[in-house]
Amino acid sequence: MKQPSYILVVNGTKVHRPVFVLGAPHSGVNLIARALRRAPGFHVGGGDTGVLNAIYAVARRPSVVEERASGTASLLRDAFAESWQLTPLTCPLCPPGRVAARESADPCRHARRVTRFGDASPDLLYSATALNAAFSDAVFVQIIRDGRDVVADMLDDEQSLAWFRPSMANLDHELPNPFFGIETQQEREEYPNQSVAAKCAMRWRGAVRLSAQLRGMLGADRLMTLRYEDMFGGEVETAERLREVTGARVSAVELVRTDASGIGSWRNRLTGDQRKDVRSIAHAELSRLGYT
Ligand SMILES: [Zn+2]
Repeated sequence: MKQPSYILVVNGTKVHRPVFVLGAPHSGVNLIARALRRAPGFHVGGGDTGVLNAIYAVARRPSVVEERASGTASLLRDAFAESWQLTPLTCPLCPPGRVAARESADPCRHARRVTRFGDASPDLLYSATALNAAFSDAVFVQIIRDGRDVVADMLDDEQSLAWFRPSMANLDHELPNPFFGIETQQEREEYPNQSVAAKCAMRWRGAVRLSAQLRGMLGADRLMTLRYEDMFGGEVETAERLREVTGARVSAVELVRTDASGIGSWRNRLTGDQRKDVRSIAHAELSRLGYT
């Protein structure tokens, strides 16, 4: 069934070609988001509570997306529309402080300068197909990073590890489950006995498989794929590609990092057992992507 075309207006501006930044955890989504946020006229959200509730609902129950496509699309559109509204309370440019109650819900003075919208919340990747259904002209920027460095970063991040708590990892109803990277009945049965490093590797593998599916689904005008490792030293080229695909006037300067990139840091950070676990889960994807 053809979806009816949908016009979303935020702050008095029609939303066209919203930009969503996708990637496995710790793959550099924040780097791209930061550069896009500094592009004139761009408002790129990230971490809004309403958006997170919507995208985790979708990510954790992918079957719902297929069963109730139009309901999911409006759930996502409503959540983003609300997060993109710039009021004196939500605008990052408005000074903090007291706001008169009657002004607090109205667009602030910066709102009319915003002509483009986007989002770079964590784990947006798992709702990419639903986002594509909700916003038929959306542009996606996805970032791929060496899975071994991703696992090393995830192992150091309480928030990443929180998803593996038994109360969070409720796996009874969904298969395949890209969020946890579980595809078969056998993988689900073995899951409780996997090491934490293996579980992290499964999430990375699930993410890069989703990224490959997106490449098969969307043309180059709607999807660009960046490699984390290429962004260091390749800032000028990356900025140019971002400008071309997203229309954001991204400056290469905003992509330059002063802190360590962490490229190859897994060599010092993963134990022998952890490396073995990562390899046994993700060797096919690592070698397909050239991470050998
Ligand atoms: Zn403002």
